[in-house]
Amino acid sequence: MSVPNEPTFRESVDLMFNRAVDIMDLPPGLEEKIRVCNSTYTVRFGVRLRGKVQTFVGYRSVHSEHMEPVKGGIRYALGVNQDEVEALAALMTYKCALVETPFGGSKGGLCIDPRQYEEHELELITRRFTYELAKRDLISPSQNVPAPDMGTGEREMAWMADQYARMNTSEINARACVTGKPLHAGGIAGRVEATGRGIQYALREFFRHPEDIAMSGLTGTLDGKRIIVQGLGNVGYHAAKFLCGEDNSVITGIVEWDGALVNPKGLDVEAVRQWIIDNGGVKGYKDAEYVEDGSKVLELDCDILIPAALEGVINLSNAARIKAPLIIEAANGPITAGADDILNDKGCVIIPDMYANAGGVTVSYFEWVKNLSHIRFGRMQRRQEESRHQLVVDELERLDRYLGDAWSMTPDFKSQYLRGADELELVRSGLDDTMRIAYQAMREVWHSRDDVPNLRMAAYLVAIGRVAQSYQAKGI
Ligand code: NAD
Repeated sequence: MSVPNEPTFRESVDLMFNRAVDIMDLPPGLEEKIRVCNSTYTVRFGVRLRGKVQTFVGYRSVHSEHMEPVKGGIRYALGVNQDEVEALAALMTYKCALVETPFGGSKGGLCIDPRQYEEHELELITRRFTYELAKRDLISPSQNVPAPDMGTGEREMAWMADQYARMNTSEINARACVTGKPLHAGGIAGRVEATGRGIQYALREFFRHPEDIAMSGLTGTLDGKRIIVQGLGNVGYHAAKFLCGEDNSVITGIVEWDGALVNPKGLDVEAVRQWIIDNGGVKGYKDAEYVEDGSKVLELDCDILIPAALEGVINLSNAARIKAPLIIEAANGPITAGADDILNDKGCVIIPDMYANAGGVTVSYFEWVKNLSHIRFGRMQRRQEESRHQLVVDELERLDRYLGDAWSMTPDFKSQYLRGADELELVRSGLDDTMRIAYQAMREVWHSRDDVPNLRMAAYLVAIGRVAQSYQAKGI
């Protein structure tokens, strides 16, 4: 999506990078080394489908190898191009640095509309794409580890992991060549919903800081906040589901590719999701007003706007009409650099993509570590933790008997305290911790420097500073 006179997605990323380095004190030349993409590989390959050979174009871009492996999703969409993949790879470098996952940045994409292909055809295409990448070490547990992105998910990651394992039969860590796999194929509990869960944890952390809430003009907590979500795919669906199911927020609008649904009393996220699965889009769904031009719904009154679909959807053509006082960028690059200026001038607080959607790469990191250690998280400690807790409960029960009516354990205490943490709980705890600490690093810079006007600039400063330190430690 582009508007005349507006920088492209890649130019927007560069512009924001340049604004940040202008107020940093980096050694001469280092900023250029950090900014540029190290390499981008373009592959054109043929697959015999429906009686003829079809040629596909794919990319894998490596932005920075200051840490290896490099990490980043693979996107299946018709609009995929070199510029977009390079911009996304750069964002991955900064994102990984911000949330302290020890990876460089990478990104891949295939120009394809996955909806036009049968499952077995997609499998053939994905396996062939993986073969092309593996031949060039662009998928490998130690060098380059892809993950899902728009248009791909667990199914594609399982095919990729299997194809890599077939090509590297003696590689004991083969499963770590890609993350976002299904649980039975080396995945980790909580990865599917990780990015949406990260959005929830990011918003919870934002609402823990009264000073930040005041900057947006909002008050209170997530309870009752009216939210509009664009894109009810993996990220948007999980974010919406957790925010209304666990934090009592109200989803008043859902924007999809074929229009939008609006209901000020709140939409039933599960029912809308099921409707989309059954019907391919939101059109025809009852219990809501249908708006054909979905982009208009981004401009409706709400407390929080969550763009979770495409880049560039908030741009020079509509930024001035956006009413949300708080926007959290679940998608990568949904706000162009020009729109960013307009929204900042209006006082809108933007929680930037680099931080907001880092839940995916964080849990991918946990999955990669799990694959390398060949053991499920919690397997060694869980029962030991339970038996230590049992000792405490036994003592409390003794006290309970001794004190009679004067004291007793509260209901549920015993069952809750006794249970040792399983993998899902550990993953959630690690993700929550990561999202809290990264937010605090950003806000510390935001509030302590007069020349840092917003969270995005703060995020770039923290991330670039860490990448620079890593290069300097290597002597570059
Ligand atoms: P997805 O393919 O699961 O979902 C995208 C959704 O957007 C779909 O429901 C699709 O129908 C909808 N959509 C497409 N065109 C639209 C339009 N014009 N208007 C409104 N909706 C439209 O993709 P996803 O994995 O949820 O990724 C969404 C965004 O989040 C992307 O920018 C991606 O880079 C980013 N992201 C994803 C992850 C992840 O773990 N999946 C991690 C980090 C960032």
